[in-house]
Amino acid sequence: MSYAKALRCRKCGQEYPLEPRNMCDVCLGRIDVTYDYEAMKKTVSKDNLCAQPVSMWRYRDLLPVDSKEVDIGTGYTPLTKADNLGKELGLKNLYVKNDCLNPTYSFKDRAVSVAVTKALEFGFDTVACASTGNLAASVAAHAAKANLKSYVFIPSNLGSGKMVGAAIHKPNLVTVNGSYDDVNRLCINLSQKYNWGFININLRPYYAEGSKTLGHEIGEQLGWQAPDCVIAPAGSGLMFTRIWKGLNELAILGLIDPVKTRMYVSQAAGSSPIVNAYNNDSKHINPVTPDTIAKSIAIGNPSDGEYAVKIAKESGGGAWAVSDKEALTGIKLLAQTEGIFAEATGGVVIAVLKKLVAAGKIKPDDLTVAVITGAGPRTQDIMADVVHATLVEPTVESFDSAFDK
Ligand SMILES: [Zn+2]
Repeated sequence: MSYAKALRCRKCGQEYPLEPRNMCDVCLGRIDVTYDYEAMKKTVSKDNLCAQPVSMWRYRDLLPVDSKEVDIGTGYTPLTKADNLGKELGLKNLYVKNDCLNPTYSFKDRAVSVAVTKALEFGFDTVACASTGNLAASVAAHAAKANLKSYVFIPSNLGSGKMVGAAIHKPNLVTVNGSYDDVNRLCINLSQKYNWGFININLRPYYAEGSKTLGHEIGEQLGWQAPDCVIAPAGSGLMFTRIWKGLNELAILGLIDPVKTRMYVSQAAGSSPIVNAYNNDSKHINPVTPDTIAKSIAIGNPSDGEYAVKIAKESGGGAWAVSDKEALTGIKLLAQTEGIFAEATGGVVIAVLKKLVAAGKIKPDDLTVAVITGAGPRTQDIMADVVHATLVEPTVESFDSAFDK
């Protein structure tokens, strides 16, 4: 059995059993899984962890699952020392956590692996999700692996790369004539009618926990220490908050020193409700209508936005936004210095990092981790302008002449 104890409301503290649940009945607050860390401490050690499989499931003892996991090979993605990019930006200790290298090319596999495992435990025969694209692919893939039926709901204006990424696993693919926020609202309504495991609604507390493994891996891969700074994207804000939780759990278990990491939210200026709330010193998020190429984080009404603002503030970090143009430059900079082709959200992260260094918020010696959460090839249409090929005949002479040799 896992060390998970209960679900607890983040606002009023009301506790619930470990069941499918979206929010608190008393105050409609968000709910989190709580754990018996004292018991966990007795079995979890660096040696034990290092002997586990090289995947996110090496942190099984820190996750709320009681059964064999639904795993398509997720996690333990590279934490690459980014010396070229660091040199470009003026940073000596820069790392890139490359979650493009998960099975469906985004960090979502972490969250979905846990949520689909719980869906089986709860006896659901169907899973569903509201998605901006990456989650749809991950849910469809995990449903295929788990022999579950699936319905994935996406905005109808997504590019064909993201559609194919989900459709290849043969889910019931539902395109909704509206924004992600409309898709999400539809799924909340459907979740009251259909007894399905909605990955980011009634399974959300478990889904959230999968993202913690990003924090666990960063701590372990840095040689059991927390970084000085983390720059991560925020759509709903949930993953951002879970990197923080993951790092702090390592500290609770005595595996690393107390966490002093400064956590920086990155958003696209065309969809930056979390950054707005941070800058206005507001505890509440004012929803916006997203307009950005960074579709993966184009969420106008972020469900964990308030919590993300709280963590950015309490950790001494911040929340920054960049234009789509800056994001495109960020994608190219990462690809052309470190060989990593990220989607627009990754470009947002790199562009925010650049701004933070220029503003003196991140110092040259700071141990800094930029979290790249999704790969670029599925949305390559936005980068078509990089192609400048030279056409030659299949002869040495033609090549020499084309390149002035
Ligand atoms: Zn409550």
